[in-house]
Amino acid sequence: MTKFVFSIDDAGSGGDDMIESFRRTSRHLESRGIRGTWFFVPYAGGQPVSDGWKRAALEMRDAGQDIQLHGRTHGDCYEFGPPNFPATRIVPDFITQFEARREELLQRYTVANLRGWMEQGLEVFERDLGIRPTAFRAPCGAVSKAMYEALAQLGIGVHSCMYISAVGYEHLPHLSSRLEQYWTDTIPHRPYRWYSGVIEAPILNEYTWRGASARSDDYLKLAREDIDRVVTESPVAIILMHTHGIADSYEHAFRLIDAVMEHVAANGYGEFSTVKELIESGEMAAAATVEGPDILEV
Ligand SMILES: [Zn+2]
Repeated sequence: MTKFVFSIDDAGSGGDDMIESFRRTSRHLESRGIRGTWFFVPYAGGQPVSDGWKRAALEMRDAGQDIQLHGRTHGDCYEFGPPNFPATRIVPDFITQFEARREELLQRYTVANLRGWMEQGLEVFERDLGIRPTAFRAPCGAVSKAMYEALAQLGIGVHSCMYISAVGYEHLPHLSSRLEQYWTDTIPHRPYRWYSGVIEAPILNEYTWRGASARSDDYLKLAREDIDRVVTESPVAIILMHTHGIADSYEHAFRLIDAVMEHVAANGYGEFSTVKELIESGEMAAAATVEGPDILEV
C-alpha cells in the first residue's frame, strides 16, 4: 500500500489569478474527498502575506488543506542552496547567474542565516495563518547541508524537493520532447534519512507544468507508468504541481488529478493523504528506512 500526496507549490505568491488557482484546486481535491499539501511562500517578493492570500489560506486551512513552508521570499532560485537539477535543466542560465554571484551567495548558506530566515517564515505562519509547519520545501530544489541542519534545529523533520524523475519538463521547447519514463539512481525512490537526520521525501515527478496541456494524453500515460513503478518501491509517493502550472490549463490539471486517482483506485494501490498526516501518523518516519547518499557539495 502506498500513500500518495498531491503537493502544490508557490501558494502565497502572485496575484488574484494565483489565489484563484489555490481555491479552485483545493475545491477540486475536496470534491474528490481528498486534501492537498500546499507549499506556501511566507514573504513572497519580500512582502507580507496579502489580505487576499491570508483569507484564502485560512479558508483552506479550515477545510483541512495542509499548508507548509516554501522558502522565505522565493526571490531567486538559490535561496537555501546552490541551483539544483531540474531547475538548472529548465533554466540553464541559473548556473551562470549563480557563478557570477558565487561568493556573495555562498555566504548565505550558514546555519545561523538560514535558520533565521526559516524563523521569519514560522513567525508569519503562526501570526497570520495560525499554523505550525512540520515540513519545508526549498524553492527551486536548491538545498544545502546548512539548510538541513537549520531544519533539524527547528524541529522540522521533513523536507521534500529532490526529484525521482524530472521527465515532466521535457515538453519545454528547448528540451527533448520525449515523455518516456526515466528515473534517477542518484537518490532512493522512497523517503530517506538525509543530512542532520532530516527525512527527505522525494518528488515522484510533475505532470502539469506550464505547456503540459498540449501533451495531456502523454502526461496521463507517463503518470500511470510512474505510479505502477513507485508502488513497488515506496510506501509514500509525492506528486508535484504548481499554482501557475495548474492555472495554465485547469482542464489538463484536473484531468490529471482524476486520472491519477482513478488509476490508484482501479489497481488497489493505496490512498491519498497529506504530508502533515503522514508525519503525524508516523508513516513518513516508518517509510524512511534507508540513508541518502552524501552528494551535496555545499
Ligand atoms: Zn516554488
